[in-house]
Amino acid sequence: MIEERSQAIPKVRITGIVAAPLFGDSPPGGWSNEIQPTDSVHTLIAVHTDAGITGFGSVFTDGRLAAAAVAHLAPLYLGENALEPERVSEKLHQNSFWMGRGGTLTHAISGIDIALWDILGKATGLPVGMLLGGRHREKVQPYCSVLMEEPGPMAEVIVRFREQGFRAFKIGWGPFGRRDDPKLDEAIVAAARAELPEGGKLMVDAGGSDAYWPNGLKWALRTADMLADHEVSWFEEALVPDALEDFVTLRQTSRVPISGGEVMTRRQAFLPFLVQRAFDIVQPDVTKVGGLSEQRRIARTAQDFGVRYVGHGWNTALGLAADLQLAAALPNVDLVEYIGGSAYVDGLLTDPFTLDADGNLSIPDRPGLGVTLDPEKVARYAPNAAQMFAQEA
Ligand SMILES: [Mg+2]
Repeated sequence: MIEERSQAIPKVRITGIVAAPLFGDSPPGGWSNEIQPTDSVHTLIAVHTDAGITGFGSVFTDGRLAAAAVAHLAPLYLGENALEPERVSEKLHQNSFWMGRGGTLTHAISGIDIALWDILGKATGLPVGMLLGGRHREKVQPYCSVLMEEPGPMAEVIVRFREQGFRAFKIGWGPFGRRDDPKLDEAIVAAARAELPEGGKLMVDAGGSDAYWPNGLKWALRTADMLADHEVSWFEEALVPDALEDFVTLRQTSRVPISGGEVMTRRQAFLPFLVQRAFDIVQPDVTKVGGLSEQRRIARTAQDFGVRYVGHGWNTALGLAADLQLAAALPNVDLVEYIGGSAYVDGLLTDPFTLDADGNLSIPDRPGLGVTLDPEKVARYAPNAAQMFAQEA
């Protein structure tokens, strides 16, 4: 009986996948080897099907790496049923185990997985959040993520985005922890804090995943104390990403919640950090870990361990759209990350994201990811944008 029914559901076959790197307006990463206009660090994915439905996703990596991964995986996905995101993504993971799991391939599969969920939503007329199990909420607060500056310019940045309606902010990277100057670090935090709106939130990201992060546990403990005095809501990447034991110690001691996990991929990598209670807040990135299918498993496991989930969302409008659908589908999500002033978030959609009077974002309830790319806008940044939309023309 079940077999007969599944035969009756028409398949939507994958006919091709396009990787489209974004160039020219990447927001500064604050990395010691800073992003150049000729670098791509985010890549859009388009999955084409024989039903005329195109699904879109986003990958955090260089477009050349994403394109190579998409080409390598082609024999596994061509002809596959696009209406089965979790099964198809699992097939890609299982069959690329020996080819660099956890790296470029996993990042690329993330974008494919997001696009497959988008297709399933478009084919069924349902928003992805509904397909993931239901919508716990219709809106969520975005926190504006910006690079740290010297205290004067830092205050100006907070004012600029506060005036755009943001009520929560994360400042990070830049000079923080990199000048061996605790007074400067504190002055930056105080300058940002002073410009928060009434009841606003401030988070601090040390950026311990930068190349050659110079500080260790003692610095992190001292800095956490300072941040607690300034009522910071969390302390992110206070240590190098793999310092599991030190994260456990820091979390046990710190008065400020400790967060991390943005550079890890695959749910298996998160397990020891959750089991050993290394984080108060875990921050997987849907465009790296394996997509929506993997991210929801990580978030649900975190929930079982009493660890908060706030997705890392330093990506694109499609990455944010995926984060919003997860924010709807998971219990207890109260924030999404929103890169301040990124053309790849604000400048790609037909209807750009807008904040309501309370500084919240509505979670799209249209089919799929619920957002529409504007081909002309995408073409400003993606040299091969036409290939992405070829099927829709
Ligand atoms: Mg971060």
